[in-house]
Amino acid sequence: MAAAIRIGRILGIPIYLHLTFLLILPLFIYIFSAPATDVTIADIPLSFRGLETDLWVKYAFGTVAALVFFGTILAHELAHSYLALRYGVKIRSITLMVFGGVSSMEELPRLPGQEWRMAFAGPFTSMVVGLISYGLVLLLRLLELDSMLLDGVVILLGLMAVYNLLLAGFNMIPAFPMDGGRVLRAYFASKMSYLEATKKAARIGRYFAIAMGIFGIFYNFFFILIALFVYIAATEEEQATTITESLQGLTVRDLMTREVEVVHPDMSVQQLHDLMLATHHMGFPVVDNGLVGIVTLSDTHKVPKDRLHLTQINDIMTRNVITVDPGEDAARALKLMSERKIGRLVVEEAGRLAGIVTQKDFLRAIDMASVRQGLARWGEQFQPPPQTPPM
Ligand SMILES: [Zn+2]
Repeated sequence: MAAAIRIGRILGIPIYLHLTFLLILPLFIYIFSAPATDVTIADIPLSFRGLETDLWVKYAFGTVAALVFFGTILAHELAHSYLALRYGVKIRSITLMVFGGVSSMEELPRLPGQEWRMAFAGPFTSMVVGLISYGLVLLLRLLELDSMLLDGVVILLGLMAVYNLLLAGFNMIPAFPMDGGRVLRAYFASKMSYLEATKKAARIGRYFAIAMGIFGIFYNFFFILIALFVYIAATEEEQATTITESLQGLTVRDLMTREVEVVHPDMSVQQLHDLMLATHHMGFPVVDNGLVGIVTLSDTHKVPKDRLHLTQINDIMTRNVITVDPGEDAARALKLMSERKIGRLVVEEAGRLAGIVTQKDFLRAIDMASVRQGLARWGEQFQPPPQTPPM
């Protein structure tokens, strides 16, 4: 991952610090240490400003508090991850960034019972951390000891109580894909198809994002950022779900073109151009006693116009061909294409060229699935009303 540094590994999961985190950390240290105004919530001061000590001690406390707070955000993320691992979901990484933590997972659990537990685990952990911290604040206050250090610890625990409870509450806002939104999707998914549940949760998520953005304009700029993040993430996740759901149960074999036109490495680029114009195919496997490469329209751009006759495909083709098995899951093949930023995959079966599959083939399958769904919904709407038995 770019713009992130790896800081360690917990539960076998690599933990990263995003660069935005390094920007937000000094801000938190300032807010915790000695901000311009003193704010108190439920008798808990929200900074070390009022502590009777030197400024540098306040900053030392503030720094510790900021680090502990990000430790509790990590605990929130790890709670999600712990359940995910138990449900057999692979987790690539956890990244701490400006909005808190983000876990990158291979695939989310589709069972509503698992999804809501996994989504709830994070806010639940934050809530428990918050309540324990608040309990300790009350306990330490009972002791009535007169010590600057102890006063500092009480403020630190108070900060953890308030911020973790805020974190729990904020994450439970039902704005998909925030935790509360995931709980909501799991609830919808127990009543309708996974795709419909996602669309409904994403729509509600976008409404919340718009409301949050308007709130942000009047009150706090930070909310506009979060609103943007929620809006984009909701839409992206809706699209990703639409794609994987549409391709559900399909393999590369179902989508690929079997009759593949191939070219020879000795062919000139001019001839290749003519072939592209004639066939409307923009890429060809290059075969010479077996697959040796792939050549696409963009490869031909490397050749100056006056040298098209003199250059052979051999000189411009990509030799490192990414191939898939016809039995490969269609959604996974599409993911491979987008990860490698390529437009087509050569399909090989037992070392022999079996076909070719392009992005267009996937788009067609996704379109057909949405047509099928529309038809099914139409069919439901126009079902004859059930016959009422005669009284
Ligand atoms: Zn969370």
